[in-house]
Amino acid sequence: MYLILFGAPGVGKGTQAKILSDKFSIPHISTGDILREAAKNGTPMGLEAKKLMNAGQLVPDDIMVEIIRETLAEERCKNGFILDGYPRTTAQAESLNRLFKRLNISDYALICLEANDEEVVKRLTARRACKSCKAIFSLSEIENDIHCPVCGAENSFYQRKDDTEEVIRTRLEVFKSSTKPVKNFYRNENKLLEINGLNSIEDVTDEIIKGLEKTFSSK
Ligand code: AMP
Repeated sequence: MYLILFGAPGVGKGTQAKILSDKFSIPHISTGDILREAAKNGTPMGLEAKKLMNAGQLVPDDIMVEIIRETLAEERCKNGFILDGYPRTTAQAESLNRLFKRLNISDYALICLEANDEEVVKRLTARRACKSCKAIFSLSEIENDIHCPVCGAENSFYQRKDDTEEVIRTRLEVFKSSTKPVKNFYRNENKLLEINGLNSIEDVTDEIIKGLEKTFSSK
């Protein structure tokens, strides 16, 4: 199964991707995580990407297309994957479509999670991640915790540099102007599954699974 998690920043793509990755035993490919890792390792591409990410802007398509081409060629992606954060432009979607055609992949779907701007700003300003295991939390879930509830690491919570209100608002504008049109691309391909991202995590997962059953059984 080949899934694409799509939606505005903060809508819950990473959270759902992780759950679905465990459920279907297919790898979770987050382009944001790949770029943050490259930035941490100080590669020239990583340092260039870091400036754009911290400003809430997109990394150029040619770099992203190459990252995805290399990643999806890995053995672990042979029987399926969940993309989180890719494609983010129509050019990336077209390139992915060509790759799917070349690999004879037709059982794919774009899961579009919907939420409003104010909910997204509220969620992202309260978002914290564990440096060690990358688990994501809302501040209210870890208020008095010194240890990560998932991996037990001590004092490992941090806030992403692009999760400040100013940068979040820029990311939302970029989403509307450059990324939203990607949804129509998949609608035209008959591969779009629209899900309300405002419900609880469990309800969103249930809705996705029911939607996927319908989508793939009708093919
Ligand atoms: P995310 O972790 O998905 O929120 O991504 C964080 C940042 O990484 C984005 O705001 C962009 O700067 C960059 N990024 C991640 N994926 C892409 C992509 N597919 N195209 C361009 N930039 C990306």
